[in-house]
Amino acid sequence: MSRPVLILGGTGEARALAARLMDDGVPVISSLAGRVADPKLPEGEVRVGGFGGVGGLVGWLAEHRPRAIVDATHPFAAQISRHAVEAAERAGVPLVRLLRPAWTAIEGDQWVAVPDIAAAADAVVSSSASRVLLTTGRQDVGAFAGIDRQWFLIRVVDPPTAALPTNHRVLRSRGPYGLSDERELLRQNEIDLLVTKNSGGELTRAKLVAARELGIAVIMVARPPESAQHVLSTVEEAAEFVRE
Ligand code: NAP
Repeated sequence: MSRPVLILGGTGEARALAARLMDDGVPVISSLAGRVADPKLPEGEVRVGGFGGVGGLVGWLAEHRPRAIVDATHPFAAQISRHAVEAAERAGVPLVRLLRPAWTAIEGDQWVAVPDIAAAADAVVSSSASRVLLTTGRQDVGAFAGIDRQWFLIRVVDPPTAALPTNHRVLRSRGPYGLSDERELLRQNEIDLLVTKNSGGELTRAKLVAARELGIAVIMVARPPESAQHVLSTVEEAAEFVRE
């Protein structure tokens, strides 16, 4: 049997790549962090849970001897991406980063760019908005804890465990989201500020279009710096890299 490809996953692109490689007859092992209680599983073999830092990942690579690593994790999953670069180098395994392009503002968008989540929380507090849609994900909501000037609609897949803003409602849902639903959500909840990370991609883009149409400002959290040298932006390109 040919050597597998390790896909560091947790994204739609990672699942698409696993399906694509399996179709091509390339065995894959997809790795998930285990953060989501009921994750969408990719085709092929799946392992769940952290590796135990760079050393743990180096050990895993020595044991399983993948032919390549595709880091298809979320653009904000900076730690595992850093670990992957270091471990791949130490183990001598080729690595490529599959990274969807960031969103960019177009005419009509009212974006406030901030460098990180803490700055996003500061920007909310100093804004004149009163009703905020927070879509930064469960792990980041803690940065908004204790804010009492605004009401928050907090959209998450799994319930947050961190402390939350004083006035809020938690809305549990999982994308993809369509434009008419996003428009309705913003209107019904009288949202006047959207907070999001610059995740990029199509599955959650509709909220930005709806915000533009309704004249709603967006606090856009910039991506962390990228660790990998070799970065590709499409599943096709990543599949091609593996074939070569
Ligand atoms: P992170 O901060 O970069 O990583 C923290 C630790 O979690 C890593 O050191 C590693 O533990 C473990 N880990 C992360 N991704 C892993 C994977 N695919 N397989 C095995 N272990 C993994 O990661 P994160 O931002 O918490 O994201 C966790 C997962 O959720 C990723 O798979 C990512 O693609 C997905 N995700 C993240 C976001 C986001 O906004 N951050 C959004 C959607 C999906 P060890 O050091 O023990 O190996």
